[in-house]
Amino acid sequence: MDRKQFLSRSLKASLGAIVAGPALANMAACNTPAEAENTTPPDPASPPTPALQLAQIALPYAYDALEPMIDKQTMEIHYTKHHAAYVKNANAAIAEEGVKAPDEAALLAGISAYSTKLRNNAGGVWNHNFFWQVMGPGSKSAEGSKVLDALNGAFGSFDKFKEVFTDAAMKRFGSGWAWLVQKDGKLEVGSTPNQDCPLMDVCEFKGRPLLGLDVWEHAYYLHYQNKRNEYVAAWWNTVDWNALAARLG
Ligand code: MN
Repeated sequence: MDRKQFLSRSLKASLGAIVAGPALANMAACNTPAEAENTTPPDPASPPTPALQLAQIALPYAYDALEPMIDKQTMEIHYTKHHAAYVKNANAAIAEEGVKAPDEAALLAGISAYSTKLRNNAGGVWNHNFFWQVMGPGSKSAEGSKVLDALNGAFGSFDKFKEVFTDAAMKRFGSGWAWLVQKDGKLEVGSTPNQDCPLMDVCEFKGRPLLGLDVWEHAYYLHYQNKRNEYVAAWWNTVDWNALAARLG
């Protein structure tokens, strides 16, 4: 394999790992497959490794799949405009700022070293990749899943958990996110402003996200206008509890 083929292969493998990253249960971006594949010894004269590139996951369902809870137009604009813009702007900031983080997880964990532009946009990339995966068409029951036991244990009851999470979503002033995270083995509910993500070192509310809800107006305004409460109430019917169970440590 000549150098050109080698570089092309490594870049493709790295991009594949980044795209696959958010789908991993432990949310750690993983470049191991690319490294394992690179059997050619490093050439000191090679150009530097291409900079980290963030990417959108493919939307796991059609734009209209979550109707009527989330309408097709909102989903399409949210994915193709808002989320895509975070990716474009995050990658521009990564290039401008000479980011050395080897992967997305390391970038978020050390985001305090970079600009507000990168913090906002890298958060926007990760949060939305995650958000698409907490929702899904199909069975919406948490009954019989280990999630239910965990939530009952942490919050007293499933209904109480929903109440606490809904409260976090409603009380987040302005734009932001509500979260269920796992931290030191415990489940906690909280919220973050703007596109801050609980994986960021700058975040007051930290943990490994299990569930996230976008409460930016762009997530609901076309269909629900100012009625965030109606959006949140409907959103519960989109949650993929099986996916949540898979994330539970
Ligand atoms: Mn959004």
